[in-house]
Parts: sequence; structure tokens; C-alpha cells
Amino acid sequence: MSGMPDLPRAPTETERAVLELLLSVDFPGVAEYRDQARRAVVTERCPCGCLEFSLAVPDDSHPASGRAQVTAWSEEQQVHLDLETRRGRLAGVALTWFGEDDARIAPDLGTFEVAAGPGA
Ligand SMILES: [Zn+2]
Repeated sequence: MSGMPDLPRAPTETERAVLELLLSVDFPGVAEYRDQARRAVVTERCPCGCLEFSLAVPDDSHPASGRAQVTAWSEEQQVHLDLETRRGRLAGVALTWFGEDDARIAPDLGTFEVAAGPGA
């Protein structure tokens, strides 16, 4: 097995949609993260088929200042998507199922709400 030779790669349409969803709310640093998202590449995608993935942004990207916890959730599908950042740079999207079943599929983005709160 050769692992995932196609990585890093440009985000798929769905991955872009997840980033756009998470960055659709206003919080400190969102302008920098939106800029980074346009140039980010996917370095890892969860093999189970869900929407979890890791990102890398170019070294010359302007880092965001300020901290925020950005979460999108769907009550209907019982799933959370969390924006992960590292030192002001996009690092990926984490997915957590809260339902009985770990569905292991990409959730439908149409039923999500998004909010940003103060970061830890
Ligand atoms: Zn997964």
C-alpha cells in the first residue's frame, strides 16, 4: 500500500463548502482565516468517509490574531464540525457524532447551524 499519494491536494467541493460554512460567521481573525482558506491544501482526509480533514496553509499566509472556537452542528444529524486552528492558521476540521450510530458518512451540510465563541 502506498498510503495516500494524492495528498496534499486542493480541497474538494464538499471540503470547501465545510470551510465556507465554518467561516460564514464573524469572529476575531475570520478575515485572515478566509484568506487562508482560499490557499489551503488538504493534507489528510479521514478514511472512514466522514468530513474530517487536515489542512495546511502557505508559509507566507498572514496568521489570524485572536482566538475563537467555531462550531457547526446539526441537531437532526447529531453531528458537530469544529474548525481547528494552530497559531492563527487553519489546521483542519474535526467531526464528532453524537448519535447512537457513528454514521461514517459525510453529513448533509444543509441542516447545520454555525456559531463562534471565545476560544480557550
Ligand atoms: Zn471519519
